[in-house]
Amino acid sequence: MKKKIVLDENDIPKAWYNIVADMPVKPLPPLNPATKKVLAPEDLEPIFAKELIKQELSSEKWIEIPEEVRELYKIWRPTPLVRATGLEKALDTPAHIYFKNEGVSPVGSHKLNSALPQAYYNKAQGIKRLTTETGAGQWGTALSFASSIFGLELDVYMVKVSYNQKPYRRVMMQTWGANVFSSPSNMTNAGRTILAKDLDNSGSLGIAISEAVEQSVQDPDTRYTLGSVLNHVVLHQTVIGLECEKQMEIAGEYPDIVIGCFGGGSNFSGISFPFLRYKLTENKGIRVIASEPASCPKLTKGKFEYDFGDTVGLTPLLPMYTLGHDFQPADIHAGGLRYHGAGTIVSQLHKDGYIEVQDIPQLETFEAGKLFANTEGIIPAPESTHAIASAIREAKIAKEEGIQKTILFNLSGHGLIDMSAYDQFLSGKMTNFQLTDEEIAKTRDVLEKIALS
Ligand SMILES: *Cc1c(COP(=O)(O)O)cnc(C)c1O
Repeated sequence: MKKKIVLDENDIPKAWYNIVADMPVKPLPPLNPATKKVLAPEDLEPIFAKELIKQELSSEKWIEIPEEVRELYKIWRPTPLVRATGLEKALDTPAHIYFKNEGVSPVGSHKLNSALPQAYYNKAQGIKRLTTETGAGQWGTALSFASSIFGLELDVYMVKVSYNQKPYRRVMMQTWGANVFSSPSNMTNAGRTILAKDLDNSGSLGIAISEAVEQSVQDPDTRYTLGSVLNHVVLHQTVIGLECEKQMEIAGEYPDIVIGCFGGGSNFSGISFPFLRYKLTENKGIRVIASEPASCPKLTKGKFEYDFGDTVGLTPLLPMYTLGHDFQPADIHAGGLRYHGAGTIVSQLHKDGYIEVQDIPQLETFEAGKLFANTEGIIPAPESTHAIASAIREAKIAKEEGIQKTILFNLSGHGLIDMSAYDQFLSGKMTNFQLTDEEIAKTRDVLEKIALS
């Protein structure tokens, strides 16, 4: 039995997989927020690079990876698939547990898989500057590195709570040449409006998106980029699952269960869609599980409605499971999972019954992270600990049932820049942030109802 299954550079996929081609019910289109009519591709051009808009609306099954991007993927791809034998032993489970280690990227997470092509297509179009938001800082760091490679300027709006809790990610972004602002900032109308009402607002991904979008629409040489949620981001992340497919084959196994932690859906989709395609096309049995924080349970407790991607209401309306764009998530340490909605494709697949969800309390995730660190040696990102917690739950069920199951989860990133979170956990100061149904209903139930047809 091999501990680690490593592929060759030639095994890096040559095309991304677009699951839309295989979906029995296609995702609903984005709407123009002013007219509530289906958005024309041109409406998006002040915000995104043209090639990315094409991918966003595409239903072609395979989309070729540009050779320049594939060359850059070689810096760290293919990533290893690892059999978590230490974790299996500690759990005394008959389950075989595998994890895909996306934490080996230069920036420490899967986000670089999409940052590089996004910077590439913007550069190819002649764009000079990118803007974006970042929660925990992983997307910002990934885009900073990608922007520096392609000679693009970058302005990052970083959610205030992360800006203060995670200064190292800010310094990483600045090392790669980005300008970083604490959001809400006084750089934009959106930020100034919120600060005027609430000077101590701790920020959210939605607010930071509003700021970054506002800046991009005001300058013809600037475009906005997003690190999750959107169809083209999900598309780029499928390199993860496509590599896994080959690696599982080498291991001589096939996953019964595929698990990813869930913020907006990019790493979950990246690892699971290439496997889910056989369920869609050949009815092959497989369970895919999205693990989200109990304090931000968009898939478990959200509603499937058209909603804005941001707080202020500047982005197109997207059909998604959402807690409402006004939802203010608790300051949990998994900053990358503090987003009010889920991507359109995942939302449709969940609605149609192809995806299971688990919402996990914060303490359980850190317990899982600690056990993983002690048995496999890697200290996982607080986001990734959600996937580990779900894998552990499933491995325990396998033990109770006495059934050998093969479990595959995505280790979306390492946690070496999140040690203050582990410090809180180890010193017993961490809490679970209980959310009541009333609190959830407050923002969720005021959603404007737009016919979903
Ligand atoms: C951003 C991030 C996530 C959550 O984003 P998704 O788009 O849902 O994948 C999860 N893990 C890590 C390490 C991240 O950086």
